[in-house]
Amino acid sequence: MARKPLMAGNWKMNKTIGEAVVLAQDISNQYDDRWDACDVVVCPPFVDLKPAKTVFEFDRVPVGVGAQNVYWEEKGAFTGEISVPMLKEIGCEWCIIGHSERRGYFGETNEDVNKKAKALLSAGIHPIICVGESLAVRDAGDALEFVCAQVRAAFAGIDAAQANECVVAYEPIWAIGTGRTATPEQAQEVCSAIRATLSELYGAEVSDAIRVLYGGSMNPGNVEMLIAQPDIDGGLIGGAALEASSFVQLIKACI
Ligand code: PEP
Repeated sequence: MARKPLMAGNWKMNKTIGEAVVLAQDISNQYDDRWDACDVVVCPPFVDLKPAKTVFEFDRVPVGVGAQNVYWEEKGAFTGEISVPMLKEIGCEWCIIGHSERRGYFGETNEDVNKKAKALLSAGIHPIICVGESLAVRDAGDALEFVCAQVRAAFAGIDAAQANECVVAYEPIWAIGTGRTATPEQAQEVCSAIRATLSELYGAEVSDAIRVLYGGSMNPGNVEMLIAQPDIDGGLIGGAALEASSFVQLIKACI
């Protein structure tokens, strides 16, 4: 089945509001209607979500905005957290969950990722569920088993209709922000195993429809080879999403 590619930029903890507006505007200025063949999403810090969304809405360009994290409770005494209804009101259609930086620095567990996915799905926000192994796990020969277990845990209790609304991003930790990309073969091997796991859970029709992205030092020089792989449907982009010129080159590689 032909899946529509998705390019999502993860701005991480970069860009003040003023800088975010400039970057969103730079991206918007380069929009042309060929982009409609690809879903384009930017995931700025929370404070930049509304300003970035406003730029795209004002320009009427179909670039979605996503958050980089969320908390599963609706409201209450959870100092420092942001809820799903808050994201919904801003107009967020996407949310990254389980990024390796959140798992590694902030102790986010597979169980947390699952709760976040369910909370997002109940509000119609698409979770972008990140999975990926460390170098130690890869060197031990356990990458496939490790990543597929993360996928099973993230999707626990999620039905097929909801699974259809999710995106999985395979991001080997050793390739994030390191300049060291997985080879297309390495990336394809894991993305194909992710799809096989989704097929075990939901059957071939659903697993064929779910987009699986690659993330980890994707850039204009390696994008073509990566997205040419049959189970890679786009990218989750860190560093190369911080400049409109490189992000737009990645979008163009998908159309
Ligand atoms: C990321 O953190 O999601 C990522 C893929 O970063 P980079 O592209 O900088 O490796």
